[in-house]
Amino acid sequence: MTLDAFREDVRQWLEAECPPEARGPGEAVPNGGNKEPISVAAKRWLDLCAERGFTVPNWPAEYGGADLDMDHYLVLLEEMRRIDARSPLGGMGVGLIGPTLLEFGTDDQKARHLPAIARGEIRWCQGYSEPGAGSDLASLSTRAVEEGEQFVINGQKIWTSGADLADWMFCLTRTDADASKHEGISLLLLTMDQPGVTVRPIRLISGSSPFCETFFDNAIAQKDDLVGQKNRGWTVGKRLLQHERSGIRILAGGSAAPVKRRNRVLDWYHALENPDHDFRTRVLDFEMRRHAFRLTQRRSVDESDSDQTPGPQTSIFELVGSGLEIEEAEILNEMLGFRGLGWEGIGFAALERDTTRHWLSIKRRAIARGSNEIQRNIIAKRVLGLPD
Ligand SMILES: Cc1cc2nc3c(=O)[nH]c(=O)nc-3n(C[C@H](O)[C@H](O)[C@H](O)COP(=O)(O)OP(=O)(O)OC[C@H]3O[C@@H](n4cnc5c(N)ncnc54)[C@H](O)[C@@H]3O)c2cc1C
Repeated sequence: MTLDAFREDVRQWLEAECPPEARGPGEAVPNGGNKEPISVAAKRWLDLCAERGFTVPNWPAEYGGADLDMDHYLVLLEEMRRIDARSPLGGMGVGLIGPTLLEFGTDDQKARHLPAIARGEIRWCQGYSEPGAGSDLASLSTRAVEEGEQFVINGQKIWTSGADLADWMFCLTRTDADASKHEGISLLLLTMDQPGVTVRPIRLISGSSPFCETFFDNAIAQKDDLVGQKNRGWTVGKRLLQHERSGIRILAGGSAAPVKRRNRVLDWYHALENPDHDFRTRVLDFEMRRHAFRLTQRRSVDESDSDQTPGPQTSIFELVGSGLEIEEAEILNEMLGFRGLGWEGIGFAALERDTTRHWLSIKRRAIARGSNEIQRNIIAKRVLGLPD
């Protein structure tokens, strides 16, 4: 279908089908699975999009996608943005393990896992970090031992986002203790609802529990769920991190033409009574850098001939993108003045409290997905080719 015909078709479909409740800011985008309730409207929007392959538009149709090339994918995103339609599905299934399975999975793994991910039936969590292995991830010590048709897993993961709500985990394990640390690692998929897995939420000072400690006590993964070769999981696991840092889904989402992009910084700025010169310069400078970032995302999508997530360059997008998110929160908070100091209590409006909490919580972006220092190391070594 030509781009124009596709645009027309999608526009009509969106106007007719996208429920009003799925437009504009509202409830969070579902992450899949059914352990966290979602509204009737969000579920309907998810099902309608899944039917057309629009939860994973660039995946092959046989795995629940719409087979869209990047040009058609961008048109879809632009048309969704035009009516302010929310993404129907997010999370680690569509963003992290799905694209990794497309690249490394067996036909059987793709057939078993991808359609369920595309329909939002399964929520996934990421078992990478351990108490002794964060930035130095290859030092991980969770052991997986082959027994018959299974792997038996013992050890501990930490900072496992959403583990308490997840159905499945993709997990880096050590399968050869004698090999050098980057070898002897395997990526396994396992169910969370089994006796050998215990999840303990970590409560933060904010009162929420976005992540957990996860313990394995003879937990079981089936041999069929080994992704890639045994002891070669480091390559697969690293590729998954590239999808996480700036997968093609993220790049395309950021770079689609801003037909109707909400811009809170400018909206709030225009509502200020007497912004001083320094602050005006700061907002202007921020907006220019953010715009340049989006244009760079767009260029990288245009230059990607195979619609594939780039390699180590994803660390550049992650580093700059996370910095912009943190800076945006700082600017918004600053615009609230002393009203931006409210964390709770009736003296502050909900929007003020939310802005303050967001400003505090977004600091995580400098650590999650690999800290800024680690991104700089990757850029230095793998992109610029500087010596170790
Ligand atoms: C919100 C959030 C969600 C997360 N979700 C998940 C998840 O779902 N699954 C999962 O597995 N993990 C998750 N993580 C963990 C995350 O990947 C790690 O926190 C991160 O990799 C850093 O590891 P660490 O916390 O052990 O810090 P450390 O590795 O101990 O690092 C401490 C400090 O030392 C610096 N440092 C370390 N090594 C170097 C070096 N070589 N050069 C320069 N500086 C260095 C780091 O930059 C950091 O500032 C999450 C983290 C956050 C904040």
